[in-house]
Amino acid sequence: MADKIPYLDLPAQIRSVRKELDAAIARNLDACSFCLGPDVVQFEKDFAKFIGAQHCVAFNSGTSALHIALMLLNVGPGDEVVTTPFTFVATSWAISYVGATPVYVDVDDVTMNLDPNLLERAITPKTKAVMPVHLYGQPFDLDPILAICKKHKLPLVEDTAQAHAAKFKGKIVGTFGDISCFSFYPGKNLGACGEGGALVTNNAEFAKRARSLREHGSTVRYYHDEVGFNYRMEGIQGAVLGVKLPHLQKWTDERRRVAHRYHELLKDTPLQLPLEAAGCDSAYHLYVVRHPQRDKLKEHLDANGVGCALHYPVPLHLQKCYSNLGHKAGDFPVAEKAARECLSLPIYPELTNAQIQRVVAVVKDFFRK
Ligand SMILES: *Cc1c(COP(=O)(O)O)cnc(C)c1O
Repeated sequence: MADKIPYLDLPAQIRSVRKELDAAIARNLDACSFCLGPDVVQFEKDFAKFIGAQHCVAFNSGTSALHIALMLLNVGPGDEVVTTPFTFVATSWAISYVGATPVYVDVDDVTMNLDPNLLERAITPKTKAVMPVHLYGQPFDLDPILAICKKHKLPLVEDTAQAHAAKFKGKIVGTFGDISCFSFYPGKNLGACGEGGALVTNNAEFAKRARSLREHGSTVRYYHDEVGFNYRMEGIQGAVLGVKLPHLQKWTDERRRVAHRYHELLKDTPLQLPLEAAGCDSAYHLYVVRHPQRDKLKEHLDANGVGCALHYPVPLHLQKCYSNLGHKAGDFPVAEKAARECLSLPIYPELTNAQIQRVVAVVKDFFRK
């Protein structure tokens, strides 16, 4: 059988920057700056500049950043946050961590992002924030969602964990809302060698309180202003991210090359392909195709050495952990259908044209049978 094509090839990316990583990690070992430290401070400045934001606060994960985002907005018990049921669970964790309730809105069948046409009817007097996700790297429908937030005076939190360097109308996402949260989990478009995350905002008060909350609620050591957390980014992760950030634009361009090649080669198959909405430049964290026979297609790819994955097999309203919300199958039919049909094909900057052709050949072989 031909060479296997891994779903994700992190070793290839690490190899490409290995020398710089070794030097950056060695520098931190010499300095013993393990928790925050100068490389984290520098990365915060550089990442804020890349996004075009005034402040970046580095965290130990994207989940922590999302949690603190809702604390900054004073969301708490009895409050509601409107969000999408079709995402990684951490989006909803943030809402649960502050004691609030996730209120789900179904997604658009084409982009699989929160459907702005359904947003307004989900807003109640208890709604304290709106938190959609730029799913798979594709910006959610910002114009109508921003308009509805403005009309109802609701803050917008962007879950940007999958969308580093994605653009809406030519501008990088992360400053359209009041707060944006990024993840630097190793498999994300910009990944640490371990866990990492960031909160980005143009609001100086938010940034200041976020810095305190991530460090035990303290700005002066051993003086604690409020109950805080140990959510600091590690020094070594700041150093690693500092090495990788200068490559992010090039890596994003390469992801887009892969996606456009897939579009071309798969357009005559029965698959529903990802579609970039008007004004959107997706960062293609994932390349998700859809087909009613998804499970059989996945078996075929697995059997032929092509890695693939499901994002996501179960929408959040049907997860056991959220059974207390009282939802049932059929409540968010578009998300449920997407969960049954979605299949993520390999996509990463290092994927070669020959590998893309092999993925496509295996997919086409499935439909010939
Ligand atoms: C990865 C991810 C997160 C969580 O980030 P971690 O760094 O893994 O905690 C949150 N939201 C979405 C949409 C994600 O994909």
